[in-house]
Formats: sequence, C-alpha cells, structure tokens
Amino acid sequence: MKSSSSKTINLDKGRPLIFKFGGTSLQTAERIHKVVDIIAGFDQPLVVVISAVGGVTDLLVQANADSASLHSKRDKIQRLHLQLAKELGLAGTSLADYGTHLNETLADLSAEGSSRDGKTRDLILSTGERLSTQLVAQVLEARGVGCEYIDSRPLIRTDSNWQEARVDLATTEDLTRKALAPLIEKGVIPIVTGFLGSNEKGETTTIGRNGSDLTATLLGACLDAAEVWIWTDVDGIFTADPRYHSEARLLPEISFREAAEAAYFGAAVIHPYTLWPLVKTDVAVRIKNTLNPEQPGTLICSEPKRRGKILITTSIEGVSVITVGGYGMVGVPGIAARIFAAVREEETSVLMISQSSAEHNITFIIRDQEVPQTVASLQNALADWIERDHRIDRIRVVPDVAIITVVGENMRGRYGIAGKIFTALGRNKINVIAIAQGSSEYSISMVLKVEDMRRAVDAIHAELDEENGGI
Ligand code: ADP
Ligand code: ASP
Ligand code: MG
Repeated sequence: MKSSSSKTINLDKGRPLIFKFGGTSLQTAERIHKVVDIIAGFDQPLVVVISAVGGVTDLLVQANADSASLHSKRDKIQRLHLQLAKELGLAGTSLADYGTHLNETLADLSAEGSSRDGKTRDLILSTGERLSTQLVAQVLEARGVGCEYIDSRPLIRTDSNWQEARVDLATTEDLTRKALAPLIEKGVIPIVTGFLGSNEKGETTTIGRNGSDLTATLLGACLDAAEVWIWTDVDGIFTADPRYHSEARLLPEISFREAAEAAYFGAAVIHPYTLWPLVKTDVAVRIKNTLNPEQPGTLICSEPKRRGKILITTSIEGVSVITVGGYGMVGVPGIAARIFAAVREEETSVLMISQSSAEHNITFIIRDQEVPQTVASLQNALADWIERDHRIDRIRVVPDVAIITVVGENMRGRYGIAGKIFTALGRNKINVIAIAQGSSEYSISMVLKVEDMRRAVDAIHAELDEENGGI
C-alpha cells in the first residue's frame, strides 16, 4: 500500500485482509471516492465488506414501520443512489447497468410492501447493502480494479430469528471458502454485502443493526485473514465517545475482552458481537478512519502489548430501571429465578442486574421498548406472591435512565477506582440510582438519570485521566 500505515503495520502477505466500510464512510460521493482510493491503493489480497449508505437502513426501518411511506421511501432511496452513481462518474453502459440493478433490487421493496411479517421486513432491509455494494463494485471496476460484487446471502447461513438472525459459523465457513477462495486466488477482490444472510430455505435474513462489522469478522474467521480492518469516521476507539467528549483520548491497543465489554455497554463504534467469531483465532481487528487513513487506528487483539492504564467510559440511553421489591422477599429461595423466568418469557434482554444486600429489592435494567410486556409478564407470573402472600409489594419502573460503564482489564484487583468514580459523581452532585460490578471485575456500571449522563461521563473521565496517563 502507498500509505505510511502499511510501513508500520506488519501483515502476512499470504493471508487476505478484510476491510469493512461503514455507512459513515459512504455518505457522499467524496467519501466513496476515498473508499475506492483506499481499496485501489493496497497490494495485499483483499475482501471488502460494504454497509448501506449512511441513513438508508434507517429509511428502510421507517418504511417497515409505516407501510404508507414505503413508496416515498423507495423513491428517495432510488434518487439518492442514482445521484451518487452520477456524481461518482458512472456513465454509459456502466450507469445503465447500475440502473438495472437498482430497479431490480427496489422491486423487492414494492412487491412485498403489503405484508409486514419478519421475513418481508428483512427482505426490505436487505436492499440498502445490495445497492451500496454494487455501486462501490462498479466504481472500482470503472477504475480498472479487478473485483466482483458478491451478494452475501447465499454465504452467511443463519437461523430465522428475523432482524437479529444468529449465524451458523461452520456452515458459513464452508460456503464462504467455496465461493471466495477461488476469487482471492485469482487476485480478484470480492466486494461483499454486509449485514445480510439467509436461512436454510434461502430466505433473506439480517443479523442485527450495525451487523456489517460482524459480517467482516465472520469472513475474517472463515478465510483465516491477516487482520480485519473496520473503517469508520473516527481514528479508532477512544476513552469516551469523541462526538460528545472532546477530552477523550485515542487508544492504540485494547483487548478483545475490553472491546466486547465496551461495545456491549454502548461504545457504538463496533457491534457488540463483532469479536465473537475471532475469539478462538489469532486474527486481530483494527479500527481505522476512512478520512484519515494514514493513522494506525486502534488494534483489538487478545494480548495487547502497549496497554496503558486504559479505561473506557461508555453510555447507553433509552433504558428503564425495574425494581421488584417487598419485605416478604427476604431469604425466600427461588425469587430471583421466578423473576427472571418471567422476564425471559418475553425474550427481554437484561442489560444489568443489582440486588440490595437485604434482598428487599431486585433491580434490573432493560430497554424502554421492552418495558410494557415485561411488566405485564412479571405481574402475571408473580400474582400469587403479590396478591395472596404480599411477599412482593411493588414492581416499580423508573424510565429515562442511562447506564454508564467504565471498562478496563487493568481495573481488576486495583484499589480505589470505584472510589474515584463515585467521588467524582458526588462532587458534581450526580445521583446514582443503581450500581453493578461486572462479574469479570473489569467493568463497573452505574445507572443515573439520562439528563446527567454527559456530565457524568465528563466527570468520571476527568477523574480517571490520571489513570490513563500511561497511554
Ligand atoms: P459506521 O457507519 O462506520 O459503522 P458508527 O456510527 O457505527 O459508524 O460508529 C462510529 C461512531 O461511533 C463514531 O462516529 C463515534 O461517535 C461513535 N463512538 C461511540 N463511542 C466511541 C468510542 N469509545 N470510540 C470511538 N467512537 C465511538
Ligand atoms: N446497514 C446496517 C445498519 O445500518 C448494517 C450496518 O451498517 O452495519 O444497521
Ligand atoms: Mg457501525
């Protein structure tokens, strides 16, 4: 590669490098040109994963929620892609070919518009990646780069858990190797749709919002990649979201465990399950900036060498606290099991749990949209203890809270971090509703009112900056 990063990053030339470009790297023709420059400038076997153009999946989600808007959304998406194709210099047969692909893909949107089952919603959601990936492939071809558009649906085998489908890694490995290894061998770059898969019947599925990150690491595991590079709009992973916290520092290296924990607790820079396919491999991930490709980015690997006293502060909004409480709960076996069985019944995912020492309360945090059905399920499952025995006298909901989590493996066994965090919050008069320490001992989470969130992250960040001095 021509950029300086290739000189500092040592890569095994015999193994392919997986690139993934997110929606933020595809928002304008200018950015897509940068993507194409990066791909064209590399002399290493490459496989490239492409997300939908920024904002397009959101439009498709809205179209799914409101069938009346389907046609206007389709027209908007069509105009946006045609405009990009022209601005990117496609013309003549190349533009006509793209127009045909556009119409054929968007036909899936119109034909299925009337019924709103999970299967139809996934087919509609899949159009974003199919349109952006073909566009990038055609622009590369026009530049004379040997590449091929690959629809990932036949390669990524999933179950039928629509919108959040789970991937069958063994079958995916088999299908992916058969389809992509011969291309890589010939020096052709596969340009692959992110986010999409299909079930046993060949029906289209999607693997969760932001899922293209996962597509990239799946391909990394299946093809024994040299590394997986996730290209986005920031220089790497920072000690806090750089959009809101100007004091945040860039982390040169972090561990898989830290990155996974940070992603789970809201560091939106990678999808929470991104690292799962790579855990048993030696394939590392690097977060890089499309707008600043010379920077080495953040390396995510199993044993970082240059780790300082790293702490990452993350936050999640749009969550509620549920408290189940009552004096009759003390010492009664099976209370927690009953509560969480009722929660599971609704397939609610619990983000955090904390129990008071006297066992009068069990508190847990779930997403806002899952509150009504979860509370109904709890009331139903615990009715005997509420009405007959009065063991439980309240199921309370506190909406509009946020979770702040501080993550860092070096926190384990270190004295005083929690003290510093709570001192900082106290000094800023920020009230903490609940606290939990991760079982791994390298994260501490706290719940507070959403309006205090940014201020709290700033306060914690400033207090811990000394800890971060070694970076
Ligand atoms: P893409 O479209 O490339 O997938 P995302 O929006 O999913 O981009 O992720 C990039 C964004 O993640 C950044 O713009 C940044 O604001 C946000 N982000 C949140 N927390 C962090 C963090 N700790 N470090 C870096 N970026 C973060
Ligand atoms: N386009 C999908 C989304 O916006 C997947 C992705 O971008 O990773 O969620
Ligand atoms: Mg993303």
